[in-house]
Amino acid sequence: MFDATSLPRSEGGFIRADRRARVEGVNRVYVAGDAGSFPGPDWMPKQAHMADLQAETAAKNLVAELRGEVPSATFRVELVCIVDSVDTGMLVARTERLNLMLPASPLFHWAKRAFERVYLRRYR
Ligand SMILES: Cc1cc2nc3c(=O)[nH]c(=O)nc-3n(C[C@H](O)[C@H](O)[C@H](O)COP(=O)(O)OP(=O)(O)OC[C@H]3O[C@@H](n4cnc5c(N)ncnc54)[C@H](O)[C@@H]3O)c2cc1C
Repeated sequence: MFDATSLPRSEGGFIRADRRARVEGVNRVYVAGDAGSFPGPDWMPKQAHMADLQAETAAKNLVAELRGEVPSATFRVELVCIVDSVDTGMLVARTERLNLMLPASPLFHWAKRAFERVYLRRYR
């Protein structure tokens, strides 16, 4: 689908954008999530949480632009996941300041279930 556009692409074929989620060189066009190629550390994940952070940034900046303001929001880079194996889970978290891996525990499995419930409630 991207092939039918003239949007700038990374070597890997994703849409090139900056840390404000703005597509490079195109006015008022933003990208969030897996479709984008963003500047940041090489461990920056293609993950749902990262897509959320980028989408929030893109929405704020687009609204700012439409109001005639300077789009200045940037997204933080975070890898946060619980590797769930049905009855237990392992927490892995990485930010530009923190690198954490906690061993498997049933607590993380239940924490993931609870997070899922709270997160999805907004959309149901
Ligand atoms: C097997 C698997 C497991 C994963 N597990 C996790 C996990 O545990 N935790 C986590 O955080 N992330 C996980 N991810 C990654 C996560 O799913 C993605 O990073 C996230 O969904 C990206 O969101 P997105 O909105 O960018 O893209 P998507 O969620 O892929 O949404 C894109 C949407 O666009 C639609 N679309 C595509 N082409 C067109 C078109 N031409 N016209 C209209 N609509 C179109 C698609 O149908 C889709 O609904 C997993 C991914 C996979 C594949």
